[in-house]
Amino acid sequence: MTTIDIVQGDLTKQSVDAIVNAANSTLLGGGGVDGAIHAAAGPKLLEECRRLRHTTFKDGLPVGQAVATGAGGLPCKWVIHTVGPNLHRGQTDPALLADCFVNSLKVAAGVGARSIAFPAISAGAYGWDITDVARVATQAVKADPPASIDLIRFVLFSARDFEAFRQALA
Ligand code: ADP
Repeated sequence: MTTIDIVQGDLTKQSVDAIVNAANSTLLGGGGVDGAIHAAAGPKLLEECRRLRHTTFKDGLPVGQAVATGAGGLPCKWVIHTVGPNLHRGQTDPALLADCFVNSLKVAAGVGARSIAFPAISAGAYGWDITDVARVATQAVKADPPASIDLIRFVLFSARDFEAFRQALA
């Protein structure tokens, strides 16, 4: 049985096996939760991301896909990087956003993570409405989560975002 829960707080402080980064396709860091993760993880994480850019993802990580790295100085074991659709670039397909959650779960299960925490992917700089993100995210993780994942947590920065996820899960 997979438990799904929601907390209001800071993703980088979660005691889980893996946290998911709302990255951009360069994998080289950015603002928002991406910046917070790299700031907390330290230079080792950026080094791993650079290596991925020079090998597997020479053209960047495509929207909806996910890849795991170590977690540098963070309390978790892995960071799963995924790229949400950017509304400001006309990326409005909810299936692409659902892919971020589903593929992150697959990658997490693949490395052996049993617990995972997600931010509200695409709800920040990428411009999606939090209500849409909450609906897509909760449906995507409920549909068919890998059996080896015990805990899926959504970590929302603001009370408003937390409330949107609470309603979507209810
Ligand atoms: P995107 O570019 O995918 O929209 P952002 O990082 O800009 O990603 O925003 C995604 C969500 O993450 C926003 O709701 C933002 O408030 C939230 N966020 C930012 N920092 C943190 C953090 N440290 N922990 C949890 N959520 C965060």
